[in-house]
Amino acid sequence: MNITKLPNKDGFFASYGGQYVDEDLKKEFNKIADEFNKLKADKNFTDELNYLLKYYVGRPSPIYFAKNLSKKYGAEIYLKREDLNHTGAHKINHSLGEALLAKKLGKKKIIAETGAGQHGVATATAAALMGLECDIYMGEIDVIKEKPNVDKMGILGANIISVQSGQKTLKEAVDEAFIAYKKEYKTALYAIGSVVGPHPFPMIVEYFQSVIGKEAKEQFLELTNTMPDYVVACVGGGSNSIGIFSGFIDDINTKLIGVEPLGKGEKLGQNAASLTYGKDGIIHGFKCKLLQDEKGNIQDAYSIASGLDYPGVGPKHCYLKEIKRAQYETINDKKALEAFFELSKTEGIIPALESSHAVAYAIELAKQNKNKKILVNLSGRGDKDIEFVLNHKISQ
Ligand SMILES: *Cc1c(COP(=O)(O)O)cnc(C)c1O
Repeated sequence: MNITKLPNKDGFFASYGGQYVDEDLKKEFNKIADEFNKLKADKNFTDELNYLLKYYVGRPSPIYFAKNLSKKYGAEIYLKREDLNHTGAHKINHSLGEALLAKKLGKKKIIAETGAGQHGVATATAAALMGLECDIYMGEIDVIKEKPNVDKMGILGANIISVQSGQKTLKEAVDEAFIAYKKEYKTALYAIGSVVGPHPFPMIVEYFQSVIGKEAKEQFLELTNTMPDYVVACVGGGSNSIGIFSGFIDDINTKLIGVEPLGKGEKLGQNAASLTYGKDGIIHGFKCKLLQDEKGNIQDAYSIASGLDYPGVGPKHCYLKEIKRAQYETINDKKALEAFFELSKTEGIIPALESSHAVAYAIELAKQNKNKKILVNLSGRGDKDIEFVLNHKISQ
C-alpha cells in the first residue's frame, strides 16, 4: 500500500483511524475534510500559512549538530530545534494551521482541550492572532497543577472551562470539549492537540506538522550531503514524530524510531506506551492501540512528561508499526530526567521532558552505533518543566 495515499476517504490507515461518531458530526467532519483538501491546493491559503510560519513562528527552525554530545557518545547527533519556535514547541505549527482553517471555514470560535496546558497556550496564541474566540477545556486537577499556563491562556484572552467529571484530567477534558463542540459545531472548530481523534483531524494535524520533516530533509542534506541513519522523536499522540517522519518516509535506508514513555514501568497505569502495550480499541472517535485492562476499560496513562500521557496514539503510527516502516521503543522517567540534565550540561540546551525521551534514546543508540548519523526532533524547550524537575529531584 502506498503510505502517501492514506488515509482512505473514510479516514482509515488499514484498520486504524476512522470516524466513530454520530451521523451529524460525520457530516460536519466530511465537510471539513473537503474544505481542507480544497484549501491545501489554494495558493492564497498556503501563502498565508507560510508567511505566518516564517515571520510569526520563526521558521525554518535550524538543525544543530550537537558536537559535544556526539563526541561523548561516538555517533553524530543532530537536533531539529522545534524548541526555538514561538511558544516553545512544535504545537504552534498545527495550532496556527487550525486557527487559519477555522477562519477560512467562517467559524467564530476555537474549542480545544488541554492537559498540561501546552496545547492550550498554543491554541490561545493562534486564536488571539486570528481574532477568534477560544474555549479551552481543562480538568480541574490540571487547572490547579499548571497555573502558569492557565495564567498565560487568560492573558491571551482564552476562556478556561474547568472540568469536574471523572479523574478531572485530560481524558475528561477531551470528553467535555467534544460535548461542547457537538452543540456549537456550526460556529466553532475543534482544534485537536495531536494526530488523534476522528478523521479528518489526524490528516489535518499531520499536514501542518509535515513542515518539520520537509525542512529537516533539506537541511540535513545541505549540512551532511547525505540522509540520517536514524530519525528519533518522542510519541505522545504522535504529532511531532509524524511531522519529522513525513520528510523521510520514502528514504527506506533511514530508520524511523518513535520513543514512548515507559514512566515508572511496564504495569498498566504506570506508563503511556500505547503502541508497545496497547490493544486495538476506540477512544475519542477513532481506532488505535489503546491502553486498556483485560475487560477493555481504558486505563489512565502516566509519564513524568505530562505532554506524553495519553492512553491512545495516532492511527498512522499504528499503521507504520504494523507495516514495520517505523519502530517504537520506550524510555522510562529516570532515563528521560538524566537526558534532560545531560543535554543541558553538554550543549547548553534545556529540553522539554517530552523531548528528553527522544534525547535519551538517541544517547543509547549512539553508544551502540558509533559513526552513525542520528537526527533527533527536539520537540520543545524545558522552561515549563524546571520547577517540577527541581522539586522531583528533592523528593527522590
Ligand atoms: C505535547 C508535546 C509532545 C507530545 O505530543 P505529540 O503529539 O506526540 O508530538 C511532545 N513534545 C512537546 C514539547 C509537547 O509539548
